[in-house]
Amino acid sequence: MQTLRALNRLRPPRPLRLPAVVSFALLALLADCAAEGGAPTATADKGAPLMLDAATIAALGETNDAWKLPPDDPSIRVDKPDAEWRRLLSPEQYRILRQSGTERAGSCALLSVKRPGSFRCAGCGLRIFRSGEKFESGTGWPSFSQPIAADRIRTAVDASLGMTRTEVNCARCGGHLGHVFDDGPPPTHLRYCMNGAAMAFEPAAKDAAAAAP
Ligand SMILES: [Zn+2]
Repeated sequence: MQTLRALNRLRPPRPLRLPAVVSFALLALLADCAAEGGAPTATADKGAPLMLDAATIAALGETNDAWKLPPDDPSIRVDKPDAEWRRLLSPEQYRILRQSGTERAGSCALLSVKRPGSFRCAGCGLRIFRSGEKFESGTGWPSFSQPIAADRIRTAVDASLGMTRTEVNCARCGGHLGHVFDDGPPPTHLRYCMNGAAMAFEPAAKDAAAAAP
């Protein structure tokens, strides 16, 4: 992405043409769902990358002040105008978090993450789930048996699509994360069915150090 930007800077100014629009769309898609294991996505043009490290979190805080808040404090409310969310989030993050969208099953690399660490809201950085409560549900969406604490989320009745479901939202920014169902494994018997693209994964400090070259 950096190289592309550098190249673009070298070119003389010109009207935006279709190929450029398509390139931007592709870049946005890559930023949303980069494969796990590679270098963290360079701080995305918009929104949090799927994989976080200290540098990307610091960079996010420069554009989105919510990322400067303590990651484990859900008592602080983040309330931004819609236009601001649209500016801060990638198109896919905006569609899910702010418009209650759903990602395509199996589409997000966070589905396969098994490393120790935590899953933070892509909108405001609140830590919501831990790897220890993540399980393979076979649904194609990252699934958890419980959040880190009950106060990390808010729930609401969702009667859309001819069903009655329980919607799960981030307690700090109100962003839509997914739904919770009562067919999960013991002991909670709950299945928090989340959109991977609504979250960002932060490896546990020890794990991140071990993975460093
Ligand atoms: Zn949030």
